[in-house]
Amino acid sequence: MPLNDRIGIEDRVTALNARYRHHAATAVMERALRDPDVGEVALVSSFGAESVVLLHMVSVIAPGTPVLFIDTQMLFAETLAYQEEVAGKLGLTNVQVIRAAEAAITRDDPDGTLHQFSTDACCTLRKTVPLENALSGYDAWITGRKRFQGGQRAALDFFEVETASRMKINPLAHWDKQDVQDYMIENRLPRHPLVAQGYPSIGCAPCTSPVKPGEDERAGRWRGAAKTECGIHFIGGKAVRVKSGAQEIENKEKVA
Ligand code: SF4
Repeated sequence: MPLNDRIGIEDRVTALNARYRHHAATAVMERALRDPDVGEVALVSSFGAESVVLLHMVSVIAPGTPVLFIDTQMLFAETLAYQEEVAGKLGLTNVQVIRAAEAAITRDDPDGTLHQFSTDACCTLRKTVPLENALSGYDAWITGRKRFQGGQRAALDFFEVETASRMKINPLAHWDKQDVQDYMIENRLPRHPLVAQGYPSIGCAPCTSPVKPGEDERAGRWRGAAKTECGIHFIGGKAVRVKSGAQEIENKEKVA
């Protein structure tokens, strides 16, 4: 019988949060990868500015853990090179490159200009739908979201219900910016080359610009547009795009 049919996900998440409440990030990651109440887990990674922290933790604990990397086919060449460099250096043995189906690209964005007309449609085509398809066989996925990022994340738990059949795990929920930097320095982890060129947050090339001193670190993402997140969020197994409001769910989710 599938794990999700045996025990309700709400009960499992509540129990997991109680079980690991006082654990550090690395311990949460270690237990999450082995606890039978979690089930099959994947790490979703953009191989962006801070992704290497979770990738390193996984490589130390269980290097064969599935790592899902969404290649929108709009990424910087530096990100593609960094992905290969990090996977090789850390010894990650199960990195899976996720792309939109060719037929969908041909139908909806044959000349690669959809992002100029509708970033939401482009993100749905190139990120949200491929990721949802890739996650369909998993009970849980690991994200790099943190409480200090504010908004709905301010009360983030290590484990949270995502859908009726899947949970999210946020091992870095309690970390702040300095914790991330300290971890990268202490473990001598390779940095994404664009960070040194003024990109503290890195997405697709057409939608990411450098950030000036004093600007928010995500100011370079979809600069000049109201959009702030790619919209990777699922409710009831369906990708949703919703704005803030009393009866709506804020579209504020992103991958590590
Ligand atoms: S970030 Fe830009 S290019 Fe990338 S999927 Fe979204 S709209 Fe398309």
